[in-house]
Amino acid sequence: MIGIVSYKDQTKEGDIRRLESPAVLSVPLSASLGKPAFPVVEPGERVLKNQLIGRADGIVSAHVHSPVSGIVLEIKTATNISGKSETFIVLENDFREEALQLSKSDIQTPRNFVNLLKDAGIVGAGGAQFPTHVKFPSDTGKLKTFIINGAECEPYLTADFTLMKNRYRELMQVVELIRKVYQPDKVVLAIEKRNKELRFVFEPYREICSVKLLPDSYPQGSELQLIHSVTGLKLKKTQLPISKGVLVSNVGTLYGIYKAAFEGIPFTERVVTVSGDNLEGAGNYWVKVGTPVRHVLASAGKISGWDNCHVVLGGPMMGVEVHRLDTPVSKGTSGVLALEKRPLEAYNCIQCGYCVDACPMGLMPMQFAVAYRENDLKAFEEYRLGQCIECGACEYICPSNVPLIDSIKRGKQFILENHK
Ligand code: SF4
Ligand code: SF4
Repeated sequence: MIGIVSYKDQTKEGDIRRLESPAVLSVPLSASLGKPAFPVVEPGERVLKNQLIGRADGIVSAHVHSPVSGIVLEIKTATNISGKSETFIVLENDFREEALQLSKSDIQTPRNFVNLLKDAGIVGAGGAQFPTHVKFPSDTGKLKTFIINGAECEPYLTADFTLMKNRYRELMQVVELIRKVYQPDKVVLAIEKRNKELRFVFEPYREICSVKLLPDSYPQGSELQLIHSVTGLKLKKTQLPISKGVLVSNVGTLYGIYKAAFEGIPFTERVVTVSGDNLEGAGNYWVKVGTPVRHVLASAGKISGWDNCHVVLGGPMMGVEVHRLDTPVSKGTSGVLALEKRPLEAYNCIQCGYCVDACPMGLMPMQFAVAYRENDLKAFEEYRLGQCIECGACEYICPSNVPLIDSIKRGKQFILENHK
């Protein structure tokens, strides 16, 4: 792991602001890892806020709800930020905010709790968007250690920090609920040392949730690293944590559970850090899923100069650069960043080994650049490319600016194509 400049100061202060709703939203139906939801509304139909508009298709899939009241303009297929084809429900906002609520039910049993997560379309808000109802067990006795991931190790991002600082009571209400439903041995909130002031915020709740301080290193917030730091367990990328009695939920996900369990509101908006270089309105905002990136940045004072910027969804290390500003915010969008372009010249590898020291998965990243250059499928497998979590620590630390992440991503694609 590596030390990394945080760039967080410009958005750490203050409460979460509400971003004005856009007139038109494009709500993605692939709100999760797994199968996309399928539309259950038609063009021309009027919908209410929180109404189900996309139904989960199978177990590893998540429902999608309308973030506004208005009219369905169209159901369109377009290329998403990963270059894959995806379906969007385009909504015209009528700004009346006429809303439905989730139906109330007893959620004090694991089965009913899991059903609530499913009904509310909750997915991992840290970026992975894995359906949360699949992670939580339907039986008691399986969950021993519940870890709240408050280690927001990507530079710029402070969405989780702001939730912990300003919405700690709501987060602890969910912890109390989870303790009642699953009776885990312990609940741990894991935060980085740079945020140690939060210990005092959570001090009154120490009987139900202990706070673990983690080093300010990257990628401390990745699930495998976090589990190792908190429990000492070393899991493989393919191992499910719950098989060892461990479950990790990100702070944003926990807040989504609060809204569903205590306010009857499905996952239709989230906290997004809007930040980058020279943004007057940088801060944390409540943003409705489906809001175009252009609208988000304009609200933060960025209305021109796009040619000199990389616009990134998520953090600068693991996020994805978008090239179309009508790209919408999804349930996994933790940040919208406008970063000035700074040309970097790549040099040859000098075999310094820094990338090897930095790699949290114990890999030899420089070998992936060689394997990609030589189209060497065997070398990719020999050097365990499949274990790479694409954290970007190797490229960040490389003094020669070797484009390691590009080799890694292309290498994974190369393996997929050659195993068909
Ligand atoms: S090889 Fe993969 S896991 Fe290792 S540092 Fe690079 S991106 Fe991260
Ligand atoms: S850090 Fe860069 S220069 Fe050093 S061994 Fe790795 S790829 Fe080569």
